[in-house]
Amino acid sequence: MKPETVNSVSIMSEMAKDWNYSQRIALVPTMGFLHEGHLNLVREASAHADKVIVSIFVNPLQFGPSEDLTNYPRNLFRDAQLLSAVGADIIFAPDSTDITPSDMKFQIDPGGMASVLCGRFRPGHFAGVSTIVAKLFHIVRPGIAVFGWKDAQQFLLLKKMVLDLNMPVTLHGVDIKREADGLAMSSRNTYLNAAQRKAAPLIYGGLSEIRSAYESGVNDTKILLNSFRRRIDSEPLLKLQYAESVDMDSLKPLDKVQKDNTLIAVAVYAGDTRLIDNIRL
Ligand code: AMP
Repeated sequence: MKPETVNSVSIMSEMAKDWNYSQRIALVPTMGFLHEGHLNLVREASAHADKVIVSIFVNPLQFGPSEDLTNYPRNLFRDAQLLSAVGADIIFAPDSTDITPSDMKFQIDPGGMASVLCGRFRPGHFAGVSTIVAKLFHIVRPGIAVFGWKDAQQFLLLKKMVLDLNMPVTLHGVDIKREADGLAMSSRNTYLNAAQRKAAPLIYGGLSEIRSAYESGVNDTKILLNSFRRRIDSEPLLKLQYAESVDMDSLKPLDKVQKDNTLIAVAVYAGDTRLIDNIRL
């Protein structure tokens, strides 16, 4: 069945209030232009809830002045078709002026977790993400919310937000969905030209090499990350922004891999397109 689309914050809020008495509500926040990775999040949500709300909102608060807010790909019609096959009940696609009115003053401050990894290069990004996600939680009041490990820093930071601010919601993380050649699916992959698209799987190739080296006994992160850097440097169409290893609780750098608590996160440019990926060790 095709999900109903709701554009108004107050209507969404009223609907959620009614359901909250009797139904388990799951929220899947997205910026739309959906792919299989997003649809896996919706499947996970459907498995744990009676009502699944997928929000589609290209959040201006999380884009820097020189980033791709206006060009970000959008196709609400296609998104609705894709969502009808995976059990979404509602698409919440709020009008920008309704959910982020120009006189809005308050924002969530995510502290130090927002100034490392991607946050080092995207000041204000995670404050914008946290603020919009907190607003969505208040409007939709979900019991669970589902996020992808694709944006590992975002997921770990939002888990901390929920814990620190006693938000009554449980977060679920879903593994990264990849193309057949290993490239992590992303709405931004549509920006890549043919040559860049061909080069991009080297990112996951490099991460897989890190995993193999770790599994064969190397746990010095400097050695592991240097192998990744060399691999990216060998491809003229790719440019490394960062490759780091951090503790998954604090996002503090790690010199040695801590089993089951280490995130290796990378950001790589292909032309103007910034691609992120990660593995957990
Ligand atoms: P976005 O629309 O890019 O803001 O992503 C919305 C949600 O989908 C976030 O929780 C992302 O981490 C998740 N997501 C995006 N791409 C993937 C992917 N390839 N695999 C798993 N989750 C993803």
